Amino acid sequence: MWRADILTLYPEMFPGPLGASLSGDALARGLWSLTTHQIRDHGRGRHRAVDDTPAGGGPGMVIRADVLGEALDAVSVADDPRPRLYMSPRGRRLDQGFVRELAGGPGAVMLCGRFEGIDERVIAGRDLIEVSIGDYVLSGGELAAMVMLDACVRLLPGVMGASASGEEESFESGLLEYPHYTRPREWEGRAIPDILLSGDHGAIARWRREQALRVTRERRPDLRAASDDQPE
Ligand code: SAM
Repeated sequence: MWRADILTLYPEMFPGPLGASLSGDALARGLWSLTTHQIRDHGRGRHRAVDDTPAGGGPGMVIRADVLGEALDAVSVADDPRPRLYMSPRGRRLDQGFVRELAGGPGAVMLCGRFEGIDERVIAGRDLIEVSIGDYVLSGGELAAMVMLDACVRLLPGVMGASASGEEESFESGLLEYPHYTRPREWEGRAIPDILLSGDHGAIARWRREQALRVTRERRPDLRAASDDQPE
């Protein structure tokens, strides 16, 4: 079973949206597990303080290294094969390749930051891999962890059932996906392209490939496959 352990100051945020639909069904069917851990259980003093003022001054608060070290050690022992991820705007940008890599492994331990972030020493001290879900700043790592989990869980064996297991989806081929249509055949004067109703599977596959290339070139010329692959 693919195992996710989440360290957070807000365990009540989970499973949240992950409890519904595909990921929720997969959770209920035991295809993956989700365990939350309250960082504050390792807090200091009567008030279980987890944060303190930044060394060198400045605004906000920083989550303490000793608190996080202890919290991580309680969840993930030295021979735990799972990567330890710290959700962070400074991290490696999450993409479908990284999602596939994570989904193919045994699971992940995820640390969600808050306030100004965490004491830098924990990152090296506990081999944390920093992961960002995009170039913007969230108020905490919980939503970022949920985004990452949702993307991973749908790729786990058995989760998407008999469907095409996402192989034709955006990014899997290095391209954005071709456009989809369904009934009615005509809607507000817009018709489904004739080729999709032709029954010619070879022609349909070629059309979809051309469309995927066109959309990718127009919207995301930075994706390598779009520049490598010339139109047919
Ligand atoms: N002071 C930090 C900075 O400027 O990089 C931002 C801290 S943010 C307010 C609090 C927490 O939210 C971070 O510690 C991190 O866990 C999470 N977070 C914010 N943006 C994120 C993103 N784009 N990807 C992943 N996690 C993010």
